Amino acid sequence: MDTKILAIDDSSLALSKKIIQGGGVVAFPTETVYGLGANAFDDGAVRSIFAIKGRPADNPLIVHVHKDYDINTLVSYIPEYAKLLAKVFLPGPLTMVYRSHNRVSAAVSCGLDTLAIRIPSHEGAQRFLRYLDLPIAAPSANVSKHVSPVTARHVYDDLKGKIELVLDGGKCNGGIESTVLDCTGEIPCVLRSGLVTADMIAQVAGECHEYVMKEGEKVRSPGMKYKHYSPNCRTALFEYADRAAAFEEYRKLKAEGKRVCFMAESAVMREFMPEDALDLGATDREIASNLYDKLREGERIAEIIVGVVPCKQDGVMVGVMNRMRKAFG
Ligand code: AMP
Ligand code: MG
Repeated sequence: MDTKILAIDDSSLALSKKIIQGGGVVAFPTETVYGLGANAFDDGAVRSIFAIKGRPADNPLIVHVHKDYDINTLVSYIPEYAKLLAKVFLPGPLTMVYRSHNRVSAAVSCGLDTLAIRIPSHEGAQRFLRYLDLPIAAPSANVSKHVSPVTARHVYDDLKGKIELVLDGGKCNGGIESTVLDCTGEIPCVLRSGLVTADMIAQVAGECHEYVMKEGEKVRSPGMKYKHYSPNCRTALFEYADRAAAFEEYRKLKAEGKRVCFMAESAVMREFMPEDALDLGATDREIASNLYDKLREGERIAEIIVGVVPCKQDGVMVGVMNRMRKAFG
């Protein structure tokens, strides 16, 4: 199969509609990462997403809708706090999990009685979703366990020959996946951290829990248990306090003739001035936005990436740190 990368316009949208209505999949941009979308009502199409990515069969998908879609048709109960949160944060990088109405394919939630819904703010994503006017089940558009894609080219590198169309909306500026929030209980609970933080949610909803798996408990967000976000090269991660040791390790590997890159925030780069720098940037937002792009750049040019954990570790950095630790194994 020939894989096309097309800018989002009337003709590529018409093609995407034809593919989706025919039970196929289309990759599309969002403000977080690129998604691999299929019609959530179509069982065969949803199953093919799992096959194309090599995704474990018990890792449920998020359904994406445009901002005027009536989600009451998909879910059975929306608590008051969720309505408040939706007013403040949607469209945006916040996925909300509700009790399901079981209207979409059972393959979307892997048999769970809940459904995760997201309304992306990316203009191209909104155009695509509105054009189709269907709930689109979509995980990140990468091969399972690899680094999530933040450009159309990243999607192409992972899925060329396996999908027909990548809608190109430029680089995703959010950079890490959406916050996943369980809205089935009396108090909202963050299952996966992201750009909308637990503090931001608590300010609107009054309270917000952060999910910590207890011994013996059935995991509430199955995706959390899998290896994720890993580049196809060796990696070594050092704590911020050990950054001098990280630089020593980088120098040692380089002296041995290894192709090695040093990944850290801008301030650490200025401290050590490595020649092979994967600079994550200075602010929270920059670091989140650059992480996956730099991991993909690193795997392309290096045999090993030596990384340093950023200094700041609260707020948005909770989600960044979670991805960084998983990526570095
Ligand atoms: P991805 O699409 O690769 O970003 O992964 C989607 C994330 O959302 C995974 O961590 C899933 O476990 C989580 N998720 C999707 N649907 C549900 C659901 N119904 N309940 C809890 N978590 C979900
Ligand atoms: Mg993913």
